[in-house]
Order: sequence, then structure tokens, then C-alpha cells
Amino acid sequence: MSQKTKIAITGASGRMGQMLIKSVLETDSAELSGVIERAGHDWVGQDVGTAMGGKALGVLVSEDTAQVIAAADVVIDFTAPCATLGFAKAAADSGTAHVIGTTGLSDRDIADLNALAERTAIVRAGNMSLGVNLLVQLTKKVAAALGEDFDIEVVEAHHHHKVDAPSGTALMLGEAAAEGRGVNLADVSDRGRDGITGARKRGDIGFAVVRGGDIVGEHDVMFAAPGERVVLRHIATDRKVFSRGAITAALWAAKQKPGAYDMMDVLGL
Ligand code: NAP
Repeated sequence: MSQKTKIAITGASGRMGQMLIKSVLETDSAELSGVIERAGHDWVGQDVGTAMGGKALGVLVSEDTAQVIAAADVVIDFTAPCATLGFAKAAADSGTAHVIGTTGLSDRDIADLNALAERTAIVRAGNMSLGVNLLVQLTKKVAAALGEDFDIEVVEAHHHHKVDAPSGTALMLGEAAAEGRGVNLADVSDRGRDGITGARKRGDIGFAVVRGGDIVGEHDVMFAAPGERVVLRHIATDRKVFSRGAITAALWAAKQKPGAYDMMDVLGL
């Protein structure tokens, strides 16, 4: 008899936290082993199904991070950078695999996560959807095929609650474009234009950000040359694309050796 993969969810009350809980419940090969909220949150101690406005699920919202993570095969975490680092330490201590969707992580955070990945499998991606991960691959190919006559601009739009910019996905796309061109994104990144900025520098990769309403997530990678433009576009209309991708990653991560992985590894792209 095949055993179900035990999945714990952090940030249970968040937009992605609730979507992830629903996706675990819809997955036959997975079981919701625990959910975590910030210490002192209203939901702590309540049944998570009732807290979400539905029927009881028999799983209480806990603030005991170490205990919930140790009892799981894999923890899925879409919260905030300061929280994610703490969850990663707990996951490494118990050898629980960790799927990280949190964006806005600093280079230092990522270095710390890579060190923790020596003790457990960590899958981290700024965007867990299949479509965006294909877009990343396409961006790399198109950037490699088109020369510097084509100015690369990454344009993203998200809902008005989003706290980091550019989005983790926009940065992934920028990295892919830079890799395709054989340059370092840090050397060519052009962010936050305002006022008299001077003309665009040849070879730069620009970022532009839109925030408004309930936009789930839209990304364009534009290659603009004199007389023509190539635009690669992804539009997410439902957060489920991220939670389904995260469940796929979790089922995969639970079987992996310690290491730092991304969605390309999960999807075999
Ligand atoms: P959200 O609705 O604001 O939810 C964030 C959750 O994290 C809340 O439950 C929040 O609890 C919890 N949290 C924040 N700081 C915490 C801390 N220090 N300790 C414990 N819990 C903490 O945000 P969201 O829209 O779900 O997005 C969450 C993250 O996922 C963001 O970084 C977002 O960019 C990212 N995201 C990634 C993908 C992807 O595919 N990789 C897709 C969508 C979103 P409180 O309510 O108590 O603050």
C-alpha cells in the first residue's frame, strides 16, 4: 500500500496559505499533517477548516513550528523572508523537505538557505506555475538568439497587496535573459527609472512594475529593436496554478536527497 506524503503548510491564513491547504486536500497522494501560523495569531488553536470558513478538518492551527515541521515529510512555505529562514532551520534540523515560494529573499537569505540545503532538500522558486517556468526557458533561448539590438524589458503587474518589487518572477525572467546573453544580471539590471534618467544603456535589462486591484500575476518579456518587437507573455488568472505547482514540487522533494533545487529540476525542463 502506498503511503501518503505528509505535508505541512506555513502562513495558513495567507492568500497562498489557504490555497495550498485546499490543494493538499484535493491531492489523493497527500495528507495535511499540520498548519502553522505566527505565534499569537487569532487562528492559533482553531480547526483550520473552520477558521477558513468551511467544515472542520481535524487539523488545529499551531504556533509550534518545530513540532509541526518535524511531523511532516515536507513543509510548503509561502510567507515572508524573515519567517522562511526560521522555517528552513527547523526543516533542516528535522530533515523535512522544504518547498519555498516566498519572494523578496536577499542574497544573504539565499546563501543561508543554500547552506541549510546541505541537510535537507529545498525547492525554491519565485514562481511555481508550469507556464512561467516554460516562459523562463523560452526567455533564455530568445535572449541567446537575439543580439543587443533588441532591448530587453521585463514588465510585471500584481495586486495592490504585494509588498516586494520587482516580483520574484520578474527577477527569474531577468536572470534567464541575462544567462541567455551570457552576462550577469547585476551588471546590466536597470530598475526604478524616475525623472531625468538619461537614455537607455545598450545591453541593459530593464524592469517595470504595475500594482493594482486583484491582478494575480502578469509578466511580459519584451525584446524591442528598431522596427520590430518580440513579446513573451504569461498571465495567471488563478492562484491555483502556484499551489498546484507547489504540491507537485512537494511530492517530488519528499523523495530527494539534500540539495538546493528549483522548478526546472521538479519539472525536468
Ligand atoms: P499574504 O496573504 O500576506 O500571506 C502571508 C502569510 O505569511 C500570512 O499568513 C502571514 O501571517 C504569514 N507571515 C508573514 N510574516 C510572518 C512571520 N514573520 N512569521 C510567521 N508567519 C508570517 O501573502 P501571499 O499573497 O499569500 O504571498 C505570500 C508569499 O508568497 C509572498 O512572498 C508572495 O510573493 C509569494 N508568492 C509566491 C508565488 C510563487 O509561485 N512562488 C506565488 C504567489 C505568491 P500574518 O497574517 O500573521 O502576517
